[in-house]
Amino acid sequence: MKLARFERGGREDYGIVLGERVVPVGDVLPGKAPLTLDDLISNEEALRQLRECDPREYGEGIPLKNVRLLHPIARPSKIVCLGLNYRDHAKEAGKEIPGAPIIFMKGRNALTGPYDSIVHHDVTKELDYEGELAAVIGKRGRKIAKETAEDFIVGYMVANDVSARDIQVGDGQWTRGKALDTFAPVGPWLTTSDEAGDISDLSINTYVNGERRQNGTTRDMVFSVPEILEFLSRAMTFEPGDLLLTGTPAGVGMYMKPAPRFLRPGDCVAIEISRLGRIENRVVAQPV
Ligand code: MG
Repeated sequence: MKLARFERGGREDYGIVLGERVVPVGDVLPGKAPLTLDDLISNEEALRQLRECDPREYGEGIPLKNVRLLHPIARPSKIVCLGLNYRDHAKEAGKEIPGAPIIFMKGRNALTGPYDSIVHHDVTKELDYEGELAAVIGKRGRKIAKETAEDFIVGYMVANDVSARDIQVGDGQWTRGKALDTFAPVGPWLTTSDEAGDISDLSINTYVNGERRQNGTTRDMVFSVPEILEFLSRAMTFEPGDLLLTGTPAGVGMYMKPAPRFLRPGDCVAIEISRLGRIENRVVAQPV
């Protein structure tokens, strides 16, 4: 299933995406639909019922062009991100392949919708993109073994780990440079694990104004999603809705040759991952 959260006429709702339309879950499970998509993802009974029915039987749905898609998970308790988790990206950065996962976090303030704007904040002159696979946790867990880690993942999304390189490098650690408002566009919907299928060889492509900048595959990841979850869950409890951003392949603006090419207001960044869809965000100047 493709599960989208959306706004229409000032009201928020969520539904199942079928082609160019979205069928509200409230129409499919009248009177017993979980209130929000955040609630649905940990409700195994409701997910099972949705999988077993044919949403086409529940009306035409709403054309996607008539809604504004929102970042699918409204209130994750945490957004945990991996640094240098692709061999080709570690190489372009001139860094060793990490021996253990490199971890940083973003706040919920960074989340923004799949077609919303990325703000070019005044505090940076080096705005950059990173196309990434995001895993969504569906079940509370601690000390998760990598062999069972997939049971804890409800699905996947496309993400952009937007980065202010001057702040990231200047601060000595990455939090401020990675967690500015709008620095985590995700979506366009949550593709459930059963529909996403094998995620060990997904292609990740990033385009800036139509020019392809990243052309990677998840096959190149240093630590797999199960390995990351095993590592992290020894230290922290994962909650339904938590997001895991799994690192970016080569081709970021910072390492362009002969010179870095950073994002400017007006630029359009699109990221596509096979089977998960495409997000597209325009860079806008910080409002005064
Ligand atoms: Mg990243």
